[in-house]
Amino acid sequence: MRITGDIYNLILSKMPVVPPETGGIIGSVDDIICTVVFDMKNTETKSAVYVPDIYFLNECISEWAEDNIRFEGIFHSHPYGQNYLSVADVEYIEKIMQELPENINQLYFPIVFPKHEIISFRAEKSDSIRIFNDNMVVVNN
Ligand SMILES: [Zn+2]
Repeated sequence: MRITGDIYNLILSKMPVVPPETGGIIGSVDDIICTVVFDMKNTETKSAVYVPDIYFLNECISEWAEDNIRFEGIFHSHPYGQNYLSVADVEYIEKIMQELPENINQLYFPIVFPKHEIISFRAEKSDSIRIFNDNMVVVNN
């Protein structure tokens, strides 16, 4: 995925160091991630593991659609060094991919190590759902 330097740095600086895990969603214009909405509910509930709030997601996605911003995926934070998706992560990724409208067949699921770096995974839906490592490319704004 391609992301602007501003958004990359905003995500890194704004997300608190884990625990708790927090997350949010990313949107693109012209195939470059340039918008973010943080979902900080975990900072209130103190739940250790981030699971996206489907109601929150749907609200954001429909607001973005009005501004021609494409929903591109969901990121969440991990403790530094946990550079793989957990079993719970894979479960919600599969659930989200199955519940999405037919025209969305690919989403990004970046993992954020607050104050350090962001890595990315890409989920693809065809006859089944598959998850790949993804290259994170930071572009100038
Ligand atoms: Zn996770």
